Amino acid sequence: MTGMCVNTPIAVENLAPESTEALEKFGLFYPKIPQRILSEVINGNYRETGKNLAETNLEFVKEWKFDIQKQQPLQTIKSFIIILAGCETAQRINEESITFVLMDAGKIWDKDKIKELLSGGLQYLKSELKIEHSLSIDFIDILGEREVGKYFCAKCGMFFEFGIKREAVTCPLMAQKCMFDPQNIEKIDYSSDKLVKQFKITPDIYKRFINSIKNRGVISDKLNEILKEWKVTDNQDKIMNELV
Ligand SMILES: [Zn+2]
Repeated sequence: MTGMCVNTPIAVENLAPESTEALEKFGLFYPKIPQRILSEVINGNYRETGKNLAETNLEFVKEWKFDIQKQQPLQTIKSFIIILAGCETAQRINEESITFVLMDAGKIWDKDKIKELLSGGLQYLKSELKIEHSLSIDFIDILGEREVGKYFCAKCGMFFEFGIKREAVTCPLMAQKCMFDPQNIEKIDYSSDKLVKQFKITPDIYKRFINSIKNRGVISDKLNEILKEWKVTDNQDKIMNELV
């Protein structure tokens, strides 16, 4: 494929990203592989683990020079939820409380597990970001039994996973610039090198999350099982190296 990215990346030291919203793409559109690994390896101490994950997220955000002072604290919290859970969230807000409503979280997580993890994380962020509202988590299922779509874009070499399964989708990152519709992985062939590369160039937030889990069990079996769903049966070790 020919064609180049028309955006030139700029070092965050020179031009800090404006909003943590930019990070939400990892949770909303990228393959839910790290989230499913986390869901597998976290087995207990949910509240404390959630607090540690929120702390890890805040360190990451600061290291990447996001100015969380300038941002709505709510945005910082929302991006944490989306990145960790791997699903979209809507907010129900009233005078005393904010409820984050996770969409189709059951496709990735045991709901009780993600609820406890996020509750631990939110408690920490509430005090760090000085939020007065009480914060809680709720769920809504939209897809039901329907399958989530997995896609590959032959132009930019990226994999995506989101929404209801379709033959093809518009590029969720840069629809105007890509001009190439990512195809359902069932219809298309690709090399697993592309998946290795995607993990390599994505900021290491998931690596930090996974490495922050104490007493985590063996990841390789679960990873191999998930990769098979992506038609990837080689390069598992390289992918593992990008994740842990
Ligand atoms: Zn593309």
